[in-house]
Amino acid sequence: MSDQAPGEGGTTAPDHDEAHGGALGTRLNWLRAAVLGANDGIVSTAGLVVGVAGATSERATILTAGLAGLLAGSMSMAAGEYVSVSTQRDSEKAALAMEKRELREQPEAELTELTDLLAARGLSRDVAREAAEQLTERDALRAHARVELGIDPDELTNPWHAAWASFLAFTAGALLPLLAIVLPPAALRLGVTVLSVLGALALTGFSSARLGAAAVRPAVVRNVAGGALAMAVTYGAGALLGAAGV
Ligand SMILES: [Zn+2]
Repeated sequence: MSDQAPGEGGTTAPDHDEAHGGALGTRLNWLRAAVLGANDGIVSTAGLVVGVAGATSERATILTAGLAGLLAGSMSMAAGEYVSVSTQRDSEKAALAMEKRELREQPEAELTELTDLLAARGLSRDVAREAAEQLTERDALRAHARVELGIDPDELTNPWHAAWASFLAFTAGALLPLLAIVLPPAALRLGVTVLSVLGALALTGFSSARLGAAAVRPAVVRNVAGGALAMAVTYGAGALLGAAGV
């Protein structure tokens, strides 16, 4: 499950996002989260419907199982995302409140702290002191939030947005195997589903590698192989149960 909150960075090094500037980095993280959510929807629903199709050829049964899987998966993703982003937001707000208090009660210590942090990033002592003074003059809380806590006080992630985004991403992904298995005639059902799922996984593997600035080929191969394995395992299980007359 890719339940990491957008903005947490994942495999992307923070330096990479920094280089793009805050807004674009955030947008890239959202996009990556959307691709990963769609990927989850594709793999889990494909495994589910192919497994059921291994046991039965009744379209209504396959459709019911696939639809239930789509709804259960998308709501579970949304709930997980809501909880994780809410918790993150709460701890960010608490950290900001504490920072605010420290700035009010011990401004000198805070200036020294900011100087140390900037010096640790490679500025000389004098330049760090000068920079810390200027940042403090302009907006002390924002400077400490960014340099010390690594957060932007104006851009805390909204848990509802995050929940909706994962719900929609998972649903979009899950619709593909669901439609691919119920629309074609029974004889073509499995072939169409397997081919379209593997094609879609190549695409999501490619996109997430590009968005994370990672090597494309291994990402595509791993993603397609993972999906193929999931479908093979569930199909095998379904076929065994079907043959046993369960
Ligand atoms: Zn501070």
